[in-house]
Amino acid sequence: MTGQKGRAFDVARVREDFPLLARTVHGKPLVYFDSANTAQKPRAVIEAVDRYYREFNANVARAVHQLGEEATAAYESARDKLARFLGAPSREEIVLTSGTTQAINLVAYSWALPRLRAGDEILVTTMEHHANIVPWQLVCERTGARLKVAPISERGELIVDRFVDALTPSVKLAAVAHVSNVLGTINPVAELARAARKRGIPLLVDGSQAAPHVAVDLRTLGCDFYAMTGHKLFGPTGTGALWARREILREMPPFFGGGEMIREVRFDGTTFADPPHRFEAGTPNIAGFVGLGAAIDYLDGLGHAAIGAHEQALLDHLTEALRAMPGVRLFGEAAHKVPVVSFLVDGAHAHDLATLLDHEGIAVRSGHHCAHPLMQFFGVPATLRASLAFYNTHEEIERFAAALARVRTLLA
Ligand code: PLP
Repeated sequence: MTGQKGRAFDVARVREDFPLLARTVHGKPLVYFDSANTAQKPRAVIEAVDRYYREFNANVARAVHQLGEEATAAYESARDKLARFLGAPSREEIVLTSGTTQAINLVAYSWALPRLRAGDEILVTTMEHHANIVPWQLVCERTGARLKVAPISERGELIVDRFVDALTPSVKLAAVAHVSNVLGTINPVAELARAARKRGIPLLVDGSQAAPHVAVDLRTLGCDFYAMTGHKLFGPTGTGALWARREILREMPPFFGGGEMIREVRFDGTTFADPPHRFEAGTPNIAGFVGLGAAIDYLDGLGHAAIGAHEQALLDHLTEALRAMPGVRLFGEAAHKVPVVSFLVDGAHAHDLATLLDHEGIAVRSGHHCAHPLMQFFGVPATLRASLAFYNTHEEIERFAAALARVRTLLA
């Protein structure tokens, strides 16, 4: 992300770009603290999608007519923007997917399934989202490989030495979240990638929660696969990407077959397009990618440095506010975090609190956050999670803290 370096971050002005943030919920102004679930969309994204349907709706890579060319150019420009945003060496290394889940499943079925054998291992960590666990389990079931788990500390940080020790010769792939969706922990993926590379083990990074908060530079991260999702990056749902090194993508067979991914189809055999199109069978979410392109332009305009400073201040404020409340247990107090805070309040069930907060106009998530093993690690069935983005304010944190103090008394 480039943008307005050094300029102060004007959150009030930025909020005007997000129409939904102005609405009320149960008669109260909305406080949206669920951006790790899905982020709100700036007007630029909404208008780009609207403009696509109004002005150049057509299928991509098929029609020679003007509308088809315009749609194809807009869709393909999302690939260019994603490549630049992620610091990918080449646009041809960006496979457009429906999100992280599809991206990881693509690696599971196209890369891991043909390679793994009984006795092989896939290394994950305790803090993974189910999207970075279940696809590997499905591969393990079919190959006889096993899942191996690198532990985390009580503070919610990956124990790096244990991860490195676990990179034994039987490990054929390591798969790690860049940022935990529950704890907010930023994992030291460059360090993990160096260790994995030294041992010849490919590293997949689940970047779903990182891309909205931290500058991603694939040239320096050193991983082999990077999965991300567009709807958490202020773009439409049903968009995302898998980045993989060109030489890896070339070795991967197609996962889905159909239109768009072929060179020639004959009844006695089909030849496939080169990556990335080989992995993009069927009509894609064209409007979604037009919107995602607009989201990336919008983020570029804001600039990572300004966003980062504002988000760090929000995180510090929110953490302090919760620490100051008696009977609040925080989950995840890593040294390097994004503004995602999980917690429980003594004597109150997470779902009950989330429901009462909703009646105050405050949207937080409660539950297992698609991270059952992490909940098992902490010995709890669920947590509350407040996940913030650059459009949130200190005043909203004050409102949230006051509302939480009030509603918890109703459950005591
Ligand atoms: N990985 C992480 C860390 C996530 O937080 C999520 C979504 O919550 C996913 C993967 C799955 O993303 P999607 O549902 O957009 O494919």
